[in-house]
Amino acid sequence: MNLILMGLPGAGKGTQAEKIVEKYGIPHISTGDMFRSAIKDGTELGKKAKSFMDQGELVPDEVTIGIVRERLGKDDCQKGFLLDGFPRTIAQAEALENLLKDMGTSINNVLHIKVPTEKLVDRLTGRRICLKCGATYHVEFNPPKVEGKCDNDGADLIQRDDDKPETVKNRLEVNISQAQPLLDFYDSKGYLVTINGDQDINQVFEDIEAELGGRSL
Ligand code: AMP
Repeated sequence: MNLILMGLPGAGKGTQAEKIVEKYGIPHISTGDMFRSAIKDGTELGKKAKSFMDQGELVPDEVTIGIVRERLGKDDCQKGFLLDGFPRTIAQAEALENLLKDMGTSINNVLHIKVPTEKLVDRLTGRRICLKCGATYHVEFNPPKVEGKCDNDGADLIQRDDDKPETVKNRLEVNISQAQPLLDFYDSKGYLVTINGDQDINQVFEDIEAELGGRSL
C-alpha cells in the first residue's frame, strides 16, 4: 500500500497519518519531521535544511529526493509507506515515479484531505505538538487530557514556530500555489482521491478507510 497524503497545513494530515499507520502497519514518512529531527541532532543534513526551513522556503529538490530515496530503500517500506509532505514539487513527483519504477512498484492512492482555507487559520494557530512522540493536539478542537502535556507520554506540548499567527497566512498562500500543480499531476494519473477534511476526525478516517477498501496488510 503506497500512499501519499496531501492537504494544506492544518488539514489534519498528521492526525490521519497516525491512524492510517496504526491500521495498515506502514511507516509514516514525513520529510518535515525528518528535517526537524536532523536539525535537532545537528547532522550535515540538518545544517543544509535549516536555513531554508527558517525562511519558510523549500529545501532544494536534490537534498529532499536524496533523503526520500534512502528512506524508501529501508526494509520497513517493503509492505508500503505513507508519504507526508513529499512530493512538494513536480520535479520531486517525477523523481518519485522513477524511483518507485526502479523498485518495481508504484503509487496506489494520493489522499487529498480538503478543508476550506478560512478554517485552516484557526486550526493552525491552535495546534500543539508533543516534543517527544510528535502527536498533535488542538487547544480547542482536540485538547490533551492534561493541558500542555501529551496523553501518550506526558511530555511537554509546544507550538511550532511556523504555526505562529504571523507566519501562518504566508505559509498557507505558499502552500496553495505549490500544491495545485501536484494535485493536477496526480489527478491526470488517476491516483487522486479527495477526502472531506471539514468533519469530525473519526469521520474523516472512516472516509479514508472506505477509499482504501478496509485493506489490512
Ligand atoms: P512540513 O512539516 O511538511 O510543513 O515541512 C516543514 C518544512 O520542511 C517546509 O517548510 C520545508 O522547508 C521543508 N520541507 C518539508 N518537506 C519538503 C519537501 N518535500 N521539499 C522541500 N522542502 C521540504
